Amino acid sequence: MSGKCIIINENVYITLGKQVLKVAGGFILPSKKEKVIVREKITRYEKDIFQSDKLNEIAKENNLLKSFNILEEVLDSVETHIPQNCRDTYYKRLKNLKLRIIATEQFDKNSRVIVPASYSPEENTMYLSTKTLCYFKDKFKEKYKGEDINTIFNSYLKRVIIHELFHLASSNIKDEDNSLYSGFVNFDNEKYLVSLNEATTELLSEQVLRDRIFHQYAGYSLQMIILSELSSIVGSEVIKESYFKNDQCNLIKDKLLKIIDNKEKVNELINTFGYDNYLNDIYDGLDTITQTQSLLLDFLEKKVNLLNTYYKFEEADNLIKFFDYNMSYLKKHNLYGKDFDTNEYKLMNIKKLNEIYYNSKLKQNNSLRIRNKKRKTK
Ligand SMILES: [Zn+2]
Repeated sequence: MSGKCIIINENVYITLGKQVLKVAGGFILPSKKEKVIVREKITRYEKDIFQSDKLNEIAKENNLLKSFNILEEVLDSVETHIPQNCRDTYYKRLKNLKLRIIATEQFDKNSRVIVPASYSPEENTMYLSTKTLCYFKDKFKEKYKGEDINTIFNSYLKRVIIHELFHLASSNIKDEDNSLYSGFVNFDNEKYLVSLNEATTELLSEQVLRDRIFHQYAGYSLQMIILSELSSIVGSEVIKESYFKNDQCNLIKDKLLKIIDNKEKVNELINTFGYDNYLNDIYDGLDTITQTQSLLLDFLEKKVNLLNTYYKFEEADNLIKFFDYNMSYLKKHNLYGKDFDTNEYKLMNIKKLNEIYYNSKLKQNNSLRIRNKKRKTK
């Protein structure tokens, strides 16, 4: 079954096969009168060809790829954001990807948060919830009064589809244990590493489509901040590869071990990303965030030291600045919780960062002094 989703005159329309359905108040209603007009507008969005030969080949087998316009618009750019040696799953799963449009609400199994879409790796099916899409459309109407809601909603929907496509591209049955993985999540041990998995999926989506909808509507914004810090330590390529190869963080752990050679500490950090620790109820997850942040600061300290040893002062400064920016953001938006100023444990992280900065400057000045002395004596 194929489908398209489009807004005309502030209504959401979805086409399913030959039917054009108008989505209203969470229910799908057939809209006979507007059928023809909608058809004409939709065809204008269709394009004949993908940039990638491989995708053109697959589109011949699965017409959903070309008949669902938003999917069609993003397939090429998602492909370019998957490492070249990890694209086989993307192609294989796109060949028989199915789409189901549902009128009821969907909830994320782990976070209990309302979600507009989901991907089932077992069924290779993408689900879109029209009820939730309508809910978000109304939110945008409230928030962006007088602006072009069509454009805003469309880029939101694109972002949603891109996110699900990354779940698709990272879902594999591994030969070693004949077990189903999606990114960092092993479906036999479902909840573990789910925070890391969703944050990585969302960060990848952000790389494809940058838009202003990010913080309020992307969900997982808190996890993304923490993940971006991890990424600044180990590099985003390592995280990507580990995610697409479903290696349960082995590549990330190897990188971390090169910075602090302590398996227990590395595992402790990765474990704080596990289960449904800091999902959307931020106050529930308070202690986990503080703990993750504290562990990340230990790795930051060592990394800054290493960079300073090789006279990479600017890189070291930028890394500290990046952490400072993130931590101020968390504090400003109250993501650390209301009791921040009186809670010593949380203040400790700020103190820790200040110390790292102070020690780094000290080391840089010393190194420069020694280097200048050497030059003078030559
Ligand atoms: Zn997701």
